[in-house]
Amino acid sequence: MIETDILIIGAGPTGLFTVFEAGLLRMKCHIIDALPQMGGQLSELYPKKPIFDIPGFPSVLAGDLIDNLHEQIKQFEPGFTLNERADSLNRLQDGSFEVITNKGTVHKAKAVIIAGGLGSFEPKKPPLKNISSFEDNGVNYFVKRPEDYRGKKIVIAGGGDSALDWTIHLAEIASSVSLVHRRNEFRGALDSVEKVKKLKQNGKINLITPAEVIELHGKEKLSAISVERDGAIEIIDTDYLIPLFGLVPKLGPIGDWGLDIEKNAIKVDNSTDFSTNIPGIYAVGDINTYPYKMKLILCGFHEAAIVCQSIYQRLNPNKKFILKYTTVSGVDGFDGSRKEAEKQVVTAI
Ligand code: FAD
Repeated sequence: MIETDILIIGAGPTGLFTVFEAGLLRMKCHIIDALPQMGGQLSELYPKKPIFDIPGFPSVLAGDLIDNLHEQIKQFEPGFTLNERADSLNRLQDGSFEVITNKGTVHKAKAVIIAGGLGSFEPKKPPLKNISSFEDNGVNYFVKRPEDYRGKKIVIAGGGDSALDWTIHLAEIASSVSLVHRRNEFRGALDSVEKVKKLKQNGKINLITPAEVIELHGKEKLSAISVERDGAIEIIDTDYLIPLFGLVPKLGPIGDWGLDIEKNAIKVDNSTDFSTNIPGIYAVGDINTYPYKMKLILCGFHEAAIVCQSIYQRLNPNKKFILKYTTVSGVDGFDGSRKEAEKQVVTAI
């Protein structure tokens, strides 16, 4: 059982920055994310794109922003449960919450902040009838540890950046890599397309286009696949099939937790503290909705700051929340008395 003050569901930019705001107030955080890495949409959908509306950064690559947010919160030592989806939520008798993931990890927290963005990203699965029986037995929708593929035969299916990037990367590691795509053209970066074509010319990979995987074979583990190209069927021996057809966001289990939902988003009270209809549960970032809501990173950051001071007051009813400037207090001095804070502000002025 993992115990923490605040459990954050979603390791996108909002969830990550929430750790910082909570850390200033000496509240410990743990984050759950369904994806194997942090960063939400920024890591998954546009890591190499520049963002122009982060205050103070005329331009910052999405991937760099996530790296910086991670660097900024390291000092507060948040815990992470990655690659697991928060599935169920129960309120316990002492008023705290228990959240259990799809892999059975149990988390207990005094407050829950849902920073789930567009919902948990689920891989788009190819419509192959027995695919679920091979999941984790030869069919993988994510490449978590490239080393697992050393010396193995691999088929990658897809035509976007992920399919191209992993084909290039795994060509160095696997004993054979075949890339199957239903068109002759690819949707990924031109540079990656060029690299893949070069690998094919040098005999380092098999490029099978326009073609589709139509059947999986094997007893308990995957051993081969059937591919259809121009009406002809070819059987390819393989240890792994990695379908990389993108991800679909799904509100998923969060929709069944008794929260007020409007158009796939959680209704919150923006006149106070972004609380949901369940006391002790808050929602920040893209997943919440209220009048004039803007699904922007900077709005998520603002909401995170408000929520954290509200939780601080809830968990410390006898202490008064005092707004302090990090320029004055640094990140260590946030738990002093009003007098001390006022003194600091006066000194600063
Ligand atoms: P997300 O980034 O969506 O992260 C949510 C995380 O929660 C995900 O990782 C998801 O896996 C996880 N999650 C959800 N449900 C569960 C669950 N049940 N269990 C475990 N994990 C769960 N915004 C700007 O401000 N400026 C821009 O220039 C800009 N450009 C964009 C360009 C593109 C192409 C796109 C798609 C978006 C852009 N945005 C931009 C929007 C911005 O990306 C979002 O506002 C931002 O990602 C919201 O952050 P978040 O942390 O709320 O959610």
